[in-house]
Amino acid sequence: MTLPNLSIADVQQKLRAKEVSPAEVLRALDARIAQVDPQIHGYLSRDLDAAMKCAESADVSLPLGGIPIAIKDVINVTGEPCTAASKILQGYRANYDATVIRKLRAAGAIPFGRCNLDEFAMGSSTENSAFGHTRNPWDTSRIPGGSSGGSAAVVAADEAFAALGSDTGGSIRQPAALCGIVGLKPTYGRVSRFGLIAFASSLDQIGPFTKTVRDSALVLNAIAGRDPQDSTSLDEPVPDHTALLGRDLKGLRLGMPREYFIDGIDPQVDAAVRAAVRHYESLGAEIVEVSLPNTEHAVGVYYIIATAEASANLARFDGVRYGHRAADATGLLDHYGRTRAEGFGPEVKRRIILGTYVLSSGYYDAFYLRAQKVRTLIRRDFSAAFEKVDALICPTSPEVAFKAGDRSDDPLKMYLADIFTIATNLAGIPGISIPCGFADVEGKKLPVGLQLLGKPFRESQLLQIAHAYEQATDWHKARPAME
Ligand code: GLN
Repeated sequence: MTLPNLSIADVQQKLRAKEVSPAEVLRALDARIAQVDPQIHGYLSRDLDAAMKCAESADVSLPLGGIPIAIKDVINVTGEPCTAASKILQGYRANYDATVIRKLRAAGAIPFGRCNLDEFAMGSSTENSAFGHTRNPWDTSRIPGGSSGGSAAVVAADEAFAALGSDTGGSIRQPAALCGIVGLKPTYGRVSRFGLIAFASSLDQIGPFTKTVRDSALVLNAIAGRDPQDSTSLDEPVPDHTALLGRDLKGLRLGMPREYFIDGIDPQVDAAVRAAVRHYESLGAEIVEVSLPNTEHAVGVYYIIATAEASANLARFDGVRYGHRAADATGLLDHYGRTRAEGFGPEVKRRIILGTYVLSSGYYDAFYLRAQKVRTLIRRDFSAAFEKVDALICPTSPEVAFKAGDRSDDPLKMYLADIFTIATNLAGIPGISIPCGFADVEGKKLPVGLQLLGKPFRESQLLQIAHAYEQATDWHKARPAME
């Protein structure tokens, strides 16, 4: 075991026992990145000097004291680039900390490294980045998932102890599943989004990627809570999310949504998830079948609402205030047109066009308004299910990591990668993906993710349920073989 292999909880013990210093931890991590990231390309940039300054004054008695944490390149950190993996933000440097960064620093953590993603978090494979693809550490010919693929891959490859990502339709849970780690999307309103580059404001949440469930709770503790600078963050009390870890599952009811166990799922994924369900039964949980009848509409509704919101959010990238600016424009409109034509990649343009269309007069009622109504039905499905059960259990993704290039020219097929994660965001509820096995594909072991969905603001219980299974199995201990 070398330092970068450890969990946050384990590094912390060493830091507090003064076996290592924060500077040594950082240097060991930096060496690991230098060694393996050329194969993975999980990082877009990192600033060792800035991090080292923090390490020198780190207080290891704080909850995350001296722990470096990697950040998806859509979350602002003072003085660092924040590109959203888009040419349009090339050269931009943040002049403020996002609230999550301010909170991480207050907990003693050190933001270190900027993680690759699909441009503006639009995608499921990290192939939509303008700055190169990220590879899956379990098989570098495959994608790590997306959009937070860099964040997931660097944690899986022991190039980070934890990372922050954002999840609009699955972008934390799906890459966590495909990379064999823990990914948590908190309840909408649990974590401030001030300083996150907005994709779809009614869906976006920031959350952690970690190697263990306990680490997930530790990071959530640090970043959760009401923030006056984000009016959608809610004034709910923030409990200690580690408090329920270790409690048994007797008396808890887990619902298997019928619509999430369907034909078309990779048989090895289906088998691993069903085995996990049986394991939960042996741990004392009661398994109940439930139905979320409006599930089939979720992907359609999402691609109306998310694109509509994105078309408005991305209007600010006009070449006047940030990043790329087209040369030789002949007037203001020409300047906007050229800057955006040059700066945005094809998927982002597709979404802006789609979003503008569904909001345009004459179509608004037929698409956007209708989608909002169906969204309410989807939310009600979950409320009804949660009257019968404490949490839902299902696959995170219908498949394991696919080959790079396989879907690049088929956006519809790519959109279906999030079929089991998208409804969660529409309903605003929390969800977590944890490792539950491996599929054997072409002689490689590829991770399978188990998804647990919980009641709003009951992340503690979700983490308790995830932790019980994690501790009873060894899946989270497996590591990709990397030179
Ligand atoms: N893959 C989905 C999309 O492309 C979700 C992305 C996300 O959660 N940011 O929109």
